[in-house]
Order: sequence, then C-alpha cells, then structure tokens
Amino acid sequence: MSERVIPLVDQRIASLAPPPAAFSAGTRIAATGLLTDRLGRPLRDLRISVTDRCNFRCNYCMPKEVFDKNYNYLPHASLLSFEEITRLARVFVAHGVKKIRLTGGEPLLRKNIEVLIEQLSALRTLEGEPLDLTLTTNGSLLARKARALKAAGLQRVTVSLDGLDDAVFRTMNDVDFPVADVLAGIDAAQEAGLGPIKINMVVKRGTNEHEILPMARRFMGTGMVLRFIEYMDVGATNGWRMNEVLPSADVVKLIHSELPLVQLDPSSPGETAERWGFTDAAGQYDPRLGEIGVISSVTHAFCQDCNRARLSTEGQLYLCLFASKGYDLRSLLRGEASDADLASALGHIWQGRSDRYSELRAAMPPDASDGSPRRVEMSYIGG
Ligand code: SF4
Repeated sequence: MSERVIPLVDQRIASLAPPPAAFSAGTRIAATGLLTDRLGRPLRDLRISVTDRCNFRCNYCMPKEVFDKNYNYLPHASLLSFEEITRLARVFVAHGVKKIRLTGGEPLLRKNIEVLIEQLSALRTLEGEPLDLTLTTNGSLLARKARALKAAGLQRVTVSLDGLDDAVFRTMNDVDFPVADVLAGIDAAQEAGLGPIKINMVVKRGTNEHEILPMARRFMGTGMVLRFIEYMDVGATNGWRMNEVLPSADVVKLIHSELPLVQLDPSSPGETAERWGFTDAAGQYDPRLGEIGVISSVTHAFCQDCNRARLSTEGQLYLCLFASKGYDLRSLLRGEASDADLASALGHIWQGRSDRYSELRAAMPPDASDGSPRRVEMSYIGG
C-alpha cells in the first residue's frame, strides 16, 4: 500500500490572541466560577501536553515519514515550565476543571515529570476535592517509573496498546518495541496502585482488527478497562481514509459473538467511551469480568457533551482535538498578565467556544474535506 503522507505545515506559529474584552474593565470575567460555552457545555477536563516528542511513531499520530530525524521539534525554552503549567492549571481549576490528563507526545519522556505531578496533585477543585489526575502513556517507560509517579500523586494511567502480536504492534507504532515490555509496564502500574487502569487500542481496518478478540480475552476479568478507539482524521499527516475505519458497532458485535456484552450507563458526564459490560451465563453484567469501552468519534460523535480543553506544550489553548488554531496563553504568562487576567482570558475564550468537528464531519460525505484550515497534530496537543 503506497504511503499517503502529506508534508506538514508548521501550524504551531499560527495562534489567536485572547479576546480584548477579557482585559477591559466592564467585560472582565471573575477569576473563579463555572464556565459554559456557546453550546452549554461546562469546562471540566483539561488535557496538558508536556512534550511534542515520542519514542514511538504510531502511524495514526506521528507517521515516521514526517516526524523523522529532521523534524523540527520544539526547543526546550519554548516549552512551558512546570511552574507555568501549574499556574495555568490553578486558573483552570478555579473555573471548574476537575480532571487533568497529562499527555504528549510521550509524557514520560519529559524529564522529572514527577515534580510537575507533585505540584498539580496539591491543587483542589472548587469543592475542595483532589483533582482526578491521570496520564496517557505508550507504556514504554512505565515499568521503571510507576512507583515514582504514584508517590508524586498521580492517581491513574491510561496505556495505549494496539495489539498483542509483536508484528502487528510494530506495524501500528513503527518502532521495534516488544509488547512484553508494555505489558510489564502495565503490571508495574497495577502493582503501584495507579488504577483503575485503562487500555486504549486504536483499531485500523486492514491492520489490527484481528487483535480485537485476543485483546478482549487478555484484559477481561483483570479490573482494567480496554477501550477500542475508531481511527480518526486527526492532524494532517496520517493520510486518513474512511475505509480504514472499523465502526465501533462492528467491534461490539465481534466481541459479543464470543464474549457476550450488555450496554452500561455512562459513569461521568462528558465521558468519551460508550461502556459495555461482560455478562454472566444469565446475561447479566458481571463486575468481576469487567467491561470494555468504545470511543466512536467518527461514527457516533459525542461533541454535545464535550467538556475538554487542550493545552499544548508551549501554552496554546485548543478547544477541540480537530482545531486548526489555538489561543496563545504563554505570551500572557511570560508578560505582565496577572492570574486575574489569565482567568478572564480563559473565561472569554471558553464562553466563545462552539467547536463540534465530529458532528460536522458526520454530515459530510466520506473523505470529503470541510475546507477548514489544516488541523493541529495530535502529538502536539495530546489525544
Ligand atoms: S470533535 Fe472536538 S468538540 Fe467534538 S468531542 Fe472531539 S474534541 Fe470535542
């Protein structure tokens, strides 16, 4: 199959300034309080990318042909420091954020990330509760780091694993890394108490769908939640085609044919995964067997509940995974802005939000472009 990779245009330069109204006397927004966007969606989840680097080259995220040794990774000076990230996170939490997910690239490549986790774990929600502090990783460094992450205050991890067969795994992530080492990382995280652990498998028709049942058998009854993610047209480099998407409905049908499932209610507002529980012989959900999830951004959009903001590793605020531009918060951070200025800027930005790309995509013919400018790369803002 010929490579269908499109050269990358450096999007990271094109950013938006916060609305001027954020800083004028009559229209400032208070530093604390819940925010809702134009579609009535609250700000609740913040995903923070702490690096644009990764030691894998998953073809749906960082295809090797583009993200090669000549790729222009961000210089360290342009990355937000841990203190800057924590200062911003404090502003988001004062506006209702309850969950922070650390992402990348591969977040465990960021040196001393435990220091950041310690700082973030000290924050409290508006209700005075600890944050739901979690991290998404490819698992390659987890065996070594799990205990230190837990000790620093991390609560949970989500591990990406696209198959159990080494050859299939290699085809998806394009590096020579054994599945056994990722599984060892998962075990170390379990032992360290970083659970309930979620496992994310991106399903690409024609590449790894035959791994669906082996993965379901492997994680059933382990207390871990395996989620199947529809292959998405994120960014502008993965050469996405609709015919490589295996709809979640087909994934559920396939598993159900061997391991009967029953649908479960969402566990929290804005949850991206649809939950399906393994059943006992009587067809009832059996919590000992556990559950799976399906994340269907392509065939079953969930924008109506989307309460997620994304912060890039250099302080750009993105309001959708499929956005083209972000709002530059770093200039404020490194300029004269007070925390009240930052909070007012965030308030105006979120209240002006109306993103719902997946819903719009669903109304378009397959593979059609909606004409919007190039989308930002997932490796830059985190999944
Ligand atoms: S497409 Fe954008 S708005 Fe819709 S759920 Fe995904 S991130 Fe949210």
